Amino acid sequence: VVGEDGEVDFKGKARFSQHLAVSAFTKSKTISQQRQNLPIFSVRDELLQVVRENQVVIIIGETGSGKTTQLTQYLYEYGYTVNGIIGCTQPRRVAAMSVAQRVSEEMETELGDKVGYAIRFEDATGPSTVIKYMTDGVLLRETLKDPVLEKYSIILMDEAHERSLDTDVLFGILKKVVARRRDFKLIVTSATLNGEKFSNFFGGVPIFHIPGRTFRVQICYSKTPCEDYVEAAVKQAMTIHIAGAPGDILIFLTGQDEIEATCYALSERMEQLISSTKQPVPKLLILPIYSQLPADLQAKIFQKAEDGARKCIVATNIAETSLTIDGIFYVIDTGYGKMKVYNPRMGMDALQVFPISRASADQRAGRAGRTGPGTCYRLYTENAYENEMLQSPVPEIQRTNLGNVVLLLKSLKIQNLLDFDFMDPPPQDSILNSMYQLWLLGALNDVGDLTDLGRKMVKFPLDPPLAKLLLMGEQLECLSEVLTIVSMLSVPSVFFRPKDREAESDAAREKFFVPESDHLTLLNVYQQWKANEYRGDWCNDHFLQVKGLYKAREIRSQLLDILKTLKIPLTYCGPDWDVVRKTICSAYFHNAAMLKGIGEYVNCRNRMPCNLHPTSALYGSGYTPDYMVYHEAILTTKEYMQCVTAVEPHWLAELGPMLFSV
Ligand code: ADP
Ligand code: MG
Repeated sequence: VVGEDGEVDFKGKARFSQHLAVSAFTKSKTISQQRQNLPIFSVRDELLQVVRENQVVIIIGETGSGKTTQLTQYLYEYGYTVNGIIGCTQPRRVAAMSVAQRVSEEMETELGDKVGYAIRFEDATGPSTVIKYMTDGVLLRETLKDPVLEKYSIILMDEAHERSLDTDVLFGILKKVVARRRDFKLIVTSATLNGEKFSNFFGGVPIFHIPGRTFRVQICYSKTPCEDYVEAAVKQAMTIHIAGAPGDILIFLTGQDEIEATCYALSERMEQLISSTKQPVPKLLILPIYSQLPADLQAKIFQKAEDGARKCIVATNIAETSLTIDGIFYVIDTGYGKMKVYNPRMGMDALQVFPISRASADQRAGRAGRTGPGTCYRLYTENAYENEMLQSPVPEIQRTNLGNVVLLLKSLKIQNLLDFDFMDPPPQDSILNSMYQLWLLGALNDVGDLTDLGRKMVKFPLDPPLAKLLLMGEQLECLSEVLTIVSMLSVPSVFFRPKDREAESDAAREKFFVPESDHLTLLNVYQQWKANEYRGDWCNDHFLQVKGLYKAREIRSQLLDILKTLKIPLTYCGPDWDVVRKTICSAYFHNAAMLKGIGEYVNCRNRMPCNLHPTSALYGSGYTPDYMVYHEAILTTKEYMQCVTAVEPHWLAELGPMLFSV
């Protein structure tokens, strides 16, 4: 195949048509031929041997070499599912779902039968499942019930280079499982060259390299720092498309809003182009991909474009290593990504936009060199790459709130968290801070041990404040109502706001407003939906996302199951919702804000200004309560409170005496 050594320059059209011929051929290949064509296939036997001979193995291979989809199948074919099942963890939900889908196709079984997946609130596995893809968070929670992971014969910790918080905690826990169970095997895979570190953590285990097969990628930098990277990305994509050389485009942006704006701008430019020229314009298939995108739309990115059309995939960093899309010849890298970081000023986690690291930039560029020699347009300067970007990303464990982790480790009876076997320990401050927050919530006692409340909180796959909200609903006898609120808070916003119909959809949303509270507004939406027999057409009429509401209903029923196993009966408060507000106050008093000036609020703990979000029921309503609590703070252009509820000051003193007095 042309250029397989990665040294061949591409010179004009002749080369390209050869590539096209190659990829057209790929299209007609059977699945088994495709499997045999992956780099990992050539080392199948060596791999199985090294796994047979070692309890722990590190496997390094470039994205797309076949680690995620093939390894599990090799292990299955070799017989590793006789005494247990194969588990494969993913840091991202989308990847777990999409890969399970793909592998079930390759194995010609229904998804959920031999091959399944599990993500929070969604279990698509069955009694015959032998290969289970899941998020690292799901496996982490399974260790609560079964500390030695009895049902697994082998675990593949995939995408370890991502160093997600849950993966990092799993490292420590699985190390113990390895020591306790001789019959258990662990494989750690990574797309980048950090094998040494993983190997050393397990006491110097073998590192296996899958030989690479990539093409050269030409890097083009922006000459000057770019002011509006969305606009620049759109322009660059159109330039590539108009120039006409074949190959799909992949654009990296930071999040859903930006991606939607970019897709919209691209389709507008295409329309303008079509109406301004008489010549036929080749089709551009514009495909967004981000974690909250519905699964059926996500699957679209893998479909081949029709002949003569070009795909333009607009993605978050999900397409950096988790998902591999063939046929990409052009990458447009904005140089930014979203990361969850602990913001000490707000005292909590916030998703923030950051410049990516050099390692991420190289991964992104690499996506253009999988099918043939490609080009990566970096919308930042070479100087920024060399001198401003970090070498590699900071592991999540060192930058986020550890509330959940602390609660989980405590219930695994790990008394002194500062002694836990972390690959890179989190800052001591951040452990102490999380313990303080759990103490405020009543999950830990004065000496840092779990309380009864804390022990119950761990049973729910929820952030500590939401778990507390449920359990306080039990005490204050409005459990059914808060259960609905918690479920609604566990799905993306159900309000649908299509472009071109903003005013109409805003008016529809306002009809649901409960003046004192966004939480109660969510409750109101759900109750009205229920009163209308959970109808889909009713949602459409009221600008509500049908899928989101269904998901909320499903989550509600799963949480209800957990409540049942804890023998907690459902209680209703009826139409008087003041007690619901009080319950919300009990779980969120650490996020309180007070009125200061006209319509302006400051955080009660640190006096920092915080703003009502324009989508809030209280925004611009003229109703300005003295105190309110909020679900979370987000940082965009300003610090915003997301989802607020007005509270009485004496509730704060009663429920959060460690922070407030009358
Ligand atoms: P790795 O884990 O090493 O990055 P994968 O096993 O995810 O590699 O991917 C191997 C190949 O499988 C990819 O090159 C791609 O062609 C194919 N593939 C993976 N997922 C899908 C999917 N959902 N649909 C179609 N092809 C896929
Ligand atoms: Mg993979």
